[in-house]
Amino acid sequence: MSKPCIFCEIVAGRMDADVIHRDDQVVAFHDIHPQAPTHVLIIPRRHIESMVDIQPDDASLIGHMHLTAKKLAHELGIADTGYRSIFNCGRDAGQTVWHIHLHLMGGRSMGWPPW
Ligand code: 5GP
Repeated sequence: MSKPCIFCEIVAGRMDADVIHRDDQVVAFHDIHPQAPTHVLIIPRRHIESMVDIQPDDASLIGHMHLTAKKLAHELGIADTGYRSIFNCGRDAGQTVWHIHLHLMGGRSMGWPPW
């Protein structure tokens, strides 16, 4: 049997996470290996493997993920200084967890491009 998706386990409450937001579509929690002073992951409750799999019907869900990032950026105090919101899509982009997640990162200045 294949291993359960860790982010589905967090959504179901079977795996611990530092959850800061839940609603009917998404769950948000602090990244276990933060790459910035603030590093939160916003994930859909529904399992979608990768951004390459999203469909036109997912447009409002993806919009909701970005609006949740904006709301959390305000709550976490990084909206004024700036933040980065990123989907890594696929191996070359560095995706390691195969359940889509929007990284919300802030609290330090960042370079570009993100090698
Ligand atoms: P990716 O590289 O797929 O874009 O990002 C996956 C992110 O998930 C990484 O930043 C990694 O630290 C985070 N992560 C992986 N496993 C866990 C976990 O069990 N709990 C939490 N909170 N974050 C995780």
